Amino acid sequence: MANIELDTLRKEFGTGGQTVVAVENVDLDIHDGEFLVLVGPSGCGKTTTLRCIAGLEDVTSGTITFGSRDVTDLRARDRDVAMVFQNYALYPHMDVRDNLGFGLKLSTKLTTDEIHRRVEDAAAMLGIEELLGDKPKELSGGQQQRVALGRAIVREPEVFLMDEPLSNLDAKLRAEMRTELQELQHELGVTTVYVTHDQTEAMAMGDRIAVMNDGVLQQVGAPETVYRSPTNEFVANFIGSPSINLFTAEVEGSTLVGPRDFAYDLEDTAPVAGYDRVRVGIRPEDMQMVSEGGTTATVTVAEHMGNENFLYLELDGHEMTARIDSAIRPQAGETVQFTFDEDALYLFDPDTGDALK
Ligand code: ATP
Repeated sequence: MANIELDTLRKEFGTGGQTVVAVENVDLDIHDGEFLVLVGPSGCGKTTTLRCIAGLEDVTSGTITFGSRDVTDLRARDRDVAMVFQNYALYPHMDVRDNLGFGLKLSTKLTTDEIHRRVEDAAAMLGIEELLGDKPKELSGGQQQRVALGRAIVREPEVFLMDEPLSNLDAKLRAEMRTELQELQHELGVTTVYVTHDQTEAMAMGDRIAVMNDGVLQQVGAPETVYRSPTNEFVANFIGSPSINLFTAEVEGSTLVGPRDFAYDLEDTAPVAGYDRVRVGIRPEDMQMVSEGGTTATVTVAEHMGNENFLYLELDGHEMTARIDSAIRPQAGETVQFTFDEDALYLFDPDTGDALK
């Protein structure tokens, strides 16, 4: 087993004026045995980072080490990694047993007995023993995905690399497989890097998550840390569903003045010292409905979900979302007032987006 260290990893594509910097000087230490999720919007460089770790892309500069091994210039097949992709590409003419064992027969010097043991073990672990004689076309999507995982597991690699492996599954199965995959990874203890654009998946699965944007690593931390203490406005906005409410407020003495009649008196003015205006963030679940003394908003849509309600609010052309207790049931068109605790307030530099507290 090994930790994975990326040291100023950079990957550019193209030449001359057409250069795209897909990964920009990323420093990242992935702990031994950890499940690390690389997450970010489409095109942010997460797949390229994964492919560099796998050895499927040459790096432009920087180094990649597994434990004490510098693997930067090693070929993919010499790195001892196993990959799982979105497209599982099982061999259609082979049954599950042969699909699981084929790679081992081809690329290792293992005995037939050892290959048999690994295939049986992986099948048991994945609960697909009874499918070993079936062909891929006889399997459901979830079963096919398990076989694809099995092919990685039988390799007993030092590192698992997974690129959106669950995105071809329907929502219910995907949620089940998330838990299963996480449990399996913890059981095996193999250092794993998992790429997804879905922040919910990242939050649910990662021991830690690494958020990327525009080729640049924004923040690495436990899901709750990234959620509650984002380093900048991008991370605050990307993580969380529904998204955080964001708007610009003027700083007038100790008061933040925002849209409509938003006026919030800060007890702690240190974070806004020297600023005329700041970006303000409030998470939907931190919005509290009050009968007086709060900020006025008009309900545009009220979604009653059973155990909670979502209110879509409008403040002089500015939209906000509140997640509130199901006992409070305002209707569309009604005027409400909201407030929040100062602890729940996020503040960002209006120019750089960096967090101010
Ligand atoms: P997605 O979730 O859409 O796959 P991503 O975050 O994985 O996105 P990458 O696929 O790593 O992003 O792409 C990062 C940037 O590098 C993008 O601008 C992309 O167009 C560019 N890029 C990726 N591969 C190549 C390539 N082979 N040649 C040229 N540009 C590339």
